[in-house]
Amino acid sequence: MHELAVTKSILKLVLNAAREIKAKKVQAIYLTVGEMRNLEQDWIQRYFDYISANTLAEGARIEVKKVPVVFHCKQCGQEFSADIHQEAMIHCSHCSSLDYSLLTGLELVVENMEVI
Ligand SMILES: [Zn+2]
Repeated sequence: MHELAVTKSILKLVLNAAREIKAKKVQAIYLTVGEMRNLEQDWIQRYFDYISANTLAEGARIEVKKVPVVFHCKQCGQEFSADIHQEAMIHCSHCSSLDYSLLTGLELVVENMEVI
């Protein structure tokens, strides 16, 4: 139920923001989500429709922008991406080191929203 918890926190944030600007209705929500989060737009939308009933955000459309996973190798400085769903063990694409850090891919941000 990972998506549900995440969607709840998104809804909370959106409703707080909507109240602050005295919006009547939230029409669309723009999210930036890192690939590492493993969140699918369809599922977020489905959960959102369910939990946003009878709130300002009922019926809002969710738009997800995915951010690819990029690593930075601590050994050679190479930046490389990897398909985390395909590769069980991720190595640096240049020197095969396992000593790297994550640059992008963990984002979970409400970038913008449309209200009336
Ligand atoms: Zn390397």
